[in-house]
Amino acid sequence: MNFIQTRGSESNKPTSVTFSEAILSPIASFGGLYVPETLPNLGEEFLNKHLNSSYKELAFDMLSRFEIDIDAEVIKKALDLYDKFDDKNNPVPVVKIKENLYISELYHGPTRAFKDMALQPFGVILSSIAQKRDENYLILAATSGDTGPAALETFKNRSNVKVVCLYPNGGTSDVQRLQMVTEDALNLKVIGINGVFDDAQNALKMLLASDEFKTSLKKHNTLLSAANSVNFGRIIFQIIYHIHSYLELVRQGAITQGEKVYLNVPSGNFGNALGGYYAWKMGLAVEKIVISSNENNVLTRLINNGKYDLRHCEVISTTSPAMDILKSSNIERIIYDMFGSERTKELMNDLEMNNFYELTPEELVKLQDSFDADFCNGDEGKKYIKDTFKNDGYLMDPHTATCMKSFNSCSNPAIKTIAYSTAEWTKFSPVIANALTGEVDTKDLKALVSISKEANLEIPSMIKELFNKKIVHDVIIEKEDIQKEILKFL
Ligand SMILES: *Cc1c(COP(=O)(O)O)cnc(C)c1O
Repeated sequence: MNFIQTRGSESNKPTSVTFSEAILSPIASFGGLYVPETLPNLGEEFLNKHLNSSYKELAFDMLSRFEIDIDAEVIKKALDLYDKFDDKNNPVPVVKIKENLYISELYHGPTRAFKDMALQPFGVILSSIAQKRDENYLILAATSGDTGPAALETFKNRSNVKVVCLYPNGGTSDVQRLQMVTEDALNLKVIGINGVFDDAQNALKMLLASDEFKTSLKKHNTLLSAANSVNFGRIIFQIIYHIHSYLELVRQGAITQGEKVYLNVPSGNFGNALGGYYAWKMGLAVEKIVISSNENNVLTRLINNGKYDLRHCEVISTTSPAMDILKSSNIERIIYDMFGSERTKELMNDLEMNNFYELTPEELVKLQDSFDADFCNGDEGKKYIKDTFKNDGYLMDPHTATCMKSFNSCSNPAIKTIAYSTAEWTKFSPVIANALTGEVDTKDLKALVSISKEANLEIPSMIKELFNKKIVHDVIIEKEDIQKEILKFL
């Protein structure tokens, strides 16, 4: 199967590209994103067949239906990385929290957040494409916390790939920073920037667009790529767990095959929710996808009033920082799927020129047929963390907690919900300690210990060990010096 871009014009369709090409240059030449030409239809037969499959068997069969230009052996090797998760027989546990609410836990990978679900296998795929082409790639990543550790972990010691990861000094949690600066491998470089996340991200965007930088890289026999969340090589792995979670509910006897469920997704850049939407289009029985946001509620507003409005809007720092995003890139793929490429181009141009676009009333109805949304602020989120722990004995992180409000406000109580948990409590411990005990200004280590006592939970070894590991990357620089520092590394 080939890939086309979201912003092509109907009369002048750009050529389609292979999966490998879509991975290596995730942003299409016209400024849009790559989407599959068609989605495979899985049908009931596929779902019945996989009722008793392992996660990896389901994943392999689903990926095969996409007919991508990656050898079966490579795909198998990529999927083997799910063996590193807590329980290799069940990398994504789905647990019942209360009547009609099930939580699919996407955080059991090596860096304890859901980015591992896609980035773990993605690292193998990208490295194998680079080896096959006999090319060397530099992956640039800017992170506010979760993508950086997951990208470093997956590319560590992989052939033909080097990673430079930029993070805002002081802008991540201790655990997230330690996960990056203690990651020891010759092909990895972690750089702290004096600035905020946007500075790191803007610096990265400038480098990705700079011909001068690309020419300098060529001298080092290196090409540039990115592992950001619009890369279809990540999205494809995010379809699988939605299907898996549904089948888990059937296995547990909670639903019958074909019964519709809500998928409730804590959303930022919309990769997770897009995976659910594609699973639905491929044949999963879904009532609606419920989008949960924090105070940066552009998505909630879009879905409720049809306006994507960034005018007079600034990013707010919240207790769920991985969702502190205003330009939610993957929504473009939904717009394309519903309204076609001409309209996508028009709306995305509006957004770039005016920081605003508006759907027609008919378009809004169509969007609302598939999506519903609500947002939850930090105080509400902390109350959900505390109450869910007290009443249901379940401890959730602040991103997952945003689903609790929309579960109450957006769902028909007769229909079951699968909500997605995107991070383990260990990743955002100061907020959770504050929610449970009221303690303030606690650093990660102290918060981890206090939650562990309060909730009677073990701190996982990979988190505990971080605090004793040697710091390998201690470079903190001004943003003007990033390019120089990267070339020095190469
Ligand atoms: C990345 C992330 C999200 C947002 O996911 P999107 O796919 O970008 O919508 C939510 N929670 C956590 C913990 C994350 O790391």
